[in-house]
Amino acid sequence: MKDQLELLWELQKIDLDLRHIKEERERYPREIKKLDERMSIEKERLQAEKGKVDLLEKERREKERQLSSSQEKIKKAEGRMSEVKTNKEYQALLTEIETIKGASSREEEEILQVLEEIDELKKDLSKREKEVAALLEKIEAEKKSTQERMAQDEILWKERMERREVLSKQIESKLYKLYHTLKEKRQGVGVVNVKKETCQGCFVHIPPQMFIEVQKNNEIIRCPNCNRILYFKGEGKAK
Ligand SMILES: [Zn+2]
Repeated sequence: MKDQLELLWELQKIDLDLRHIKEERERYPREIKKLDERMSIEKERLQAEKGKVDLLEKERREKERQLSSSQEKIKKAEGRMSEVKTNKEYQALLTEIETIKGASSREEEEILQVLEEIDELKKDLSKREKEVAALLEKIEAEKKSTQERMAQDEILWKERMERREVLSKQIESKLYKLYHTLKEKRQGVGVVNVKKETCQGCFVHIPPQMFIEVQKNNEIIRCPNCNRILYFKGEGKAK
């Protein structure tokens, strides 16, 4: 019976490993999806910031066109100076030139403002680009390590399944069935360790005499509280 209990204990550990891998299998795709989403959010944000710069560049070009057309108008008006005949015409032309000059100096100022804004944004942008590149690299690395863990888990799964197959043949069918039933009813745990007279499945004390018997691992003893099969692993460091 001692061997049987040892085999059963090993089977229990394998079943817990398998359960863990199964949970991980469900978790990994969600994790990868989250990382992908984070990457596209960062990329979109950066794109939006670049869009802002593009818009300002467009505004700048538009203002420069206005400015050069104003300058053209000033030149033309000044060219008409030699053609004026009366003082009234002369005054009117001067006023016209002054008005256009006023507009053009406002345009110049506006262009300078836009240029300053563009410079500022570009400075931020190049900083942000570096930050985003570093972040994307980090996320890629996280993704890769998740994928590696996935691959390792699949290898582990195969190994555990093979060992499980062997064990389930070595364990007496009656004991195996009992374990299986308990496992189904008790959150995947059918056989538990006992430490310091305490069932490690439900953490209820067992009678001292029972603990003495359990330590021998010679017979199937079940926890009076949770019904699980009790196994004594020794008082050494529990795994
Ligand atoms: Zn118990």
